[in-house]
Amino acid sequence: MSFPQRLVDGYEAFASGRLQTEQHRYRELAERGQTPEIMVIGCCDSRVSPEVIFDAGPGELFVVRNVANLVPPFETQGTYHGVSAALEFGVAALKVKHIVILGHAHCGGVRAFAEDHEPLSPGDFIGRWMSLMAPAASKVGPRGSMSPAEYLERMEKASIVNTLDNLMTFPRLRKLIERGEVQTHGAYFGVATGQLSVLDRATGEFKPAVK
Ligand SMILES: [Zn+2]
Repeated sequence: MSFPQRLVDGYEAFASGRLQTEQHRYRELAERGQTPEIMVIGCCDSRVSPEVIFDAGPGELFVVRNVANLVPPFETQGTYHGVSAALEFGVAALKVKHIVILGHAHCGGVRAFAEDHEPLSPGDFIGRWMSLMAPAASKVGPRGSMSPAEYLERMEKASIVNTLDNLMTFPRLRKLIERGEVQTHGAYFGVATGQLSVLDRATGEFKPAVK
């Protein structure tokens, strides 16, 4: 077993390129620690890297990625809570000012849920994880006359809204949001178009981030 050559090559390119120009910043971050103001909760999908989409340098974004950019509602029973732990760290330790839920088009997790397929893989976890989307699905309602693409996009966007609602179930975070110390945002990346849309909370619609 050898370390993937693609990663060795990529690291060499980074070390001779970007690291050179950002060395000072890395040293400073190592000494002072990170103080990102923006937390992004995105999907694991290899096409939607938040650092790439937002052109972010080291220390700028506190990123959590999971299948379909979901956050489970607050609960403290028994199991391991990776997303909740990251959320707690972002909010309580780093004191981020913004939390962005970044969804995207052609999300395999959403599709698996929406089409009621077998889970993405024959494992034990994805089906249960994706059941977090159930409240979003019931808001969208039956597919009816919608095309499959339109239905999936509605589901992807409704799930972002549902995840924003779930953030409000975390008592400490809810207080900070109500006091205006933390702002939450929904965003949606069109993989094919490259377009970024941002949720307008007043209308519930996603509008282009750049006019
Ligand atoms: Zn996805």
